[in-house]
Amino acid sequence: MHGSDGKILILGGTAEAYTLAEQLASASFTIITSLAGRTQNPRLPAGQVRIGGFGGVEGLTAYLRQEPIGLIIDATHPFARQITAHAIAAADRTGIPLLRLERPLWQRQADDNWIEVDTPEEAALAIPASARVFLAIGRQHLAAFLHRHDAGFVARMIESPETAPPFRMLHIIPGKPGEAEDEVRFFLENRVDCLVCRNSGGKGSCGKIIAARQLALPVIMINRGPPANITTATGTEEVMSYIHNHWLIK
Ligand code: NAP
Repeated sequence: MHGSDGKILILGGTAEAYTLAEQLASASFTIITSLAGRTQNPRLPAGQVRIGGFGGVEGLTAYLRQEPIGLIIDATHPFARQITAHAIAAADRTGIPLLRLERPLWQRQADDNWIEVDTPEEAALAIPASARVFLAIGRQHLAAFLHRHDAGFVARMIESPETAPPFRMLHIIPGKPGEAEDEVRFFLENRVDCLVCRNSGGKGSCGKIIAARQLALPVIMINRGPPANITTATGTEEVMSYIHNHWLIK
């Protein structure tokens, strides 16, 4: 199915996806948000929700046809590259329009001390000797830092991992990103002297970047890969404009 008569599928898991679901539901669109199912008790967005992987491009293609979906909005995290690639392939196969919602990058300020790298492996090599590091990255990337026996690591997780990562010097602290003043306190309490993070962008987790700036700490910033070659909105208002100006008039 093409055009404006199908449901809207939001590939979610981000703050922007929740806001968008709210806005689209308020505007009486039929929406389904898809969550990967990584957290045990996820906050549920407005509208319908489905949880769990689709089963690759084949599974997603079948799902799009079965519902049927008239528009896909990929609002997944900027570093969730696989689901974005699958959405592009499935949109191509089905001819269903695909819009990417991706928050803008954080921009380096004059008083930032950023060391920019492209991968977690490069980030591990860039850590100063014997540093005490706040590893603000996804848990699936922790292994890249295992060989830095000289450094101490702090990671913050909303849910503790079921099995402890094999890190001698990793301290896992339960919690969420906070405002800059909370993050300054976190850095000081945990004697952090270096931050490793990805350039995720957005306001929700920017507090740690501001805190590192205020404390003049080095930030090893893992860059995003090149943007996907698809129509992209940087905020929910742009998505609403796209829907009204391009999708609804099809
Ligand atoms: P990923 O590497 O791009 O995707 C891995 C697999 O997870 C996909 O092939 C797909 O499985 C499934 N998947 C991912 N997002 C999905 C969704 N919204 N609905 C249904 N299935 C999904 O993704 P990831 O980095 O593991 O991130 C997983 C989810 O967490 C994303 O939806 C993302 O928005 C959210 N998130 C990620 C990060 C991050 O740092 N990467 C941070 C915050 C939130 P199948 O192939 O079986 O369909």
